[in-house]
Amino acid sequence: MPHPGLDRHQLNIKPLCARNDKVAIKEPMMKPYGDCVYCGGAVVERPQRVDYRIHGQLYILENVPTGVCSQCGEQFFKAEVVKEMEAAVQTATGSAPTIRVPVIAMK
Ligand SMILES: [Zn+2]
Repeated sequence: MPHPGLDRHQLNIKPLCARNDKVAIKEPMMKPYGDCVYCGGAVVERPQRVDYRIHGQLYILENVPTGVCSQCGEQFFKAEVVKEMEAAVQTATGSAPTIRVPVIAMK
């Protein structure tokens, strides 16, 4: 009597294990930025300070989620983050903290 029950239990476990293996392989391959288009390096997201220029005005945006190439340092932005930066600049007022920026020409 206990023999057929044991066999069925073992059969039930096998397909579950196979399914879990497939999920485990898929997850590390998620790359929201893809590889760097310039050098093929891995692109990792980290908060960055970004120089943002619009209509001749320079803004410095902090804590911007940015994809940074681990090899060449090239920066990449998700479309939704670009929209957020545009919105942040458009709603910025004269009360935003301001710094003086030296401009130096190289001869
Ligand atoms: Zn690169």
